[in-house]
Amino acid sequence: MEENNLEGNSVIHDNFEEVPRKKVIEFKPPLYRQRYYFVKNLVNQHKPKKVADLGCGDTSLIWMLKFHSCIELLVGVDIDEDKLQWKGSKLSPFMGDFLSPRDLNLTITLYHGSAVERDSRLLGFDLITCIELIEHLDSEDLTRFPKVVFGYLSPSMVVISTPNSEFNPLFPAVTLRDADHKFEWNRMQFQTWALDVANRYNYTVEFTGVGEPPAGAEEVGYCTQIGIFQKNGTEATETCASEQCREHIYKAVFTASYPSLQQKRFRQLVLINEVFREIQSMRRKFVQSLKPEDERELDHKSKATGHSKTCIALVGPVFTEAEKTNIEKSPKPFCVGNKFYVPLERLLAYPKVNRLCDNIEALKTLIADSVRLNSDGSAVKVDLTDEVDNY
Ligand code: SAM
Repeated sequence: MEENNLEGNSVIHDNFEEVPRKKVIEFKPPLYRQRYYFVKNLVNQHKPKKVADLGCGDTSLIWMLKFHSCIELLVGVDIDEDKLQWKGSKLSPFMGDFLSPRDLNLTITLYHGSAVERDSRLLGFDLITCIELIEHLDSEDLTRFPKVVFGYLSPSMVVISTPNSEFNPLFPAVTLRDADHKFEWNRMQFQTWALDVANRYNYTVEFTGVGEPPAGAEEVGYCTQIGIFQKNGTEATETCASEQCREHIYKAVFTASYPSLQQKRFRQLVLINEVFREIQSMRRKFVQSLKPEDERELDHKSKATGHSKTCIALVGPVFTEAEKTNIEKSPKPFCVGNKFYVPLERLLAYPKVNRLCDNIEALKTLIADSVRLNSDGSAVKVDLTDEVDNY
């Protein structure tokens, strides 16, 4: 994020900007966030798997995007290595990611390098974002930029945002919004450049923006102008695997792999946890059903008033009618002596278990080391009355 900018979007300026002593332009949410939300909406809409953010700065956008379940590879590139390392750890998985793993793998990698250099690890992406980057490129780099991003990397979609200079007169006397900006374009200049790039590299481009102008100044357009480029044709750019086209120019400074249900050990942990939960719930219901009517009533009341010491209120998942029917159809849990048996088929009828494992043999293999099975291996066996379970 620019630190001495005039958009009122920096941390330093706290989202307020004086306009020639009288007016104050307040962007709500702050302009930089509006840009990030714009990208997030686009991700929700298009569900890209591989996303790269060129000129990612302090990685705030990368951090926001890591919560999108569709993304499996998230890459940030910046020419300023210090910015990248500064927030690297924020991108590491935390406890919650292990307790509740994602459905799909996610790898986040940060590279130190320039957006105008070719690196084959960025080939085959679905979306490349360049948020407030191009205005930092000198004319030589600006010429190389489309060749690398559109010509070489050729992702399915590119999003480019840049200041709209027509908005600048609404700020205090300025020529450029940031000391490092090499230029700021009006809408005509940006659109001419973008249409030329789109034509040359077989993309279509649409224009929009964020940061509404104040009432009465609508003609200046958005404070930030945005071009959304989409590649024509459906053919995907394949990642080049052969040694000849391996170009690893960037230096990887950070990488993190997130736990996911695609990884056997995490899938197994989540499955075992779910199986324990269902068995516990079934056993409690079964024990309850054995009690005389009046005792059950009493338990029910004390649970409702929160006075029960021994019963934990079980807030079970809400099932659809089809799921309920499926559960009801499956073999019921049963009791022999003081042992309680839950058929594996019954467990598989529960949607959360089924989502993790959809056949008996796989279920048996995955939970075998954590539970006791009956002699023919068709049901999990637990003590009926133990308060503390001993599987
Ligand atoms: N995209 C981020 C955001 O919107 O918060 C940061 C934008 S900041 C205004 C511009 C960033 O581009 C800086 O972090 C700068 O280091 C980076 N940058 C400038 N030239 C670059 C280049 N040739 N390649 C990669 N990054 C570059």
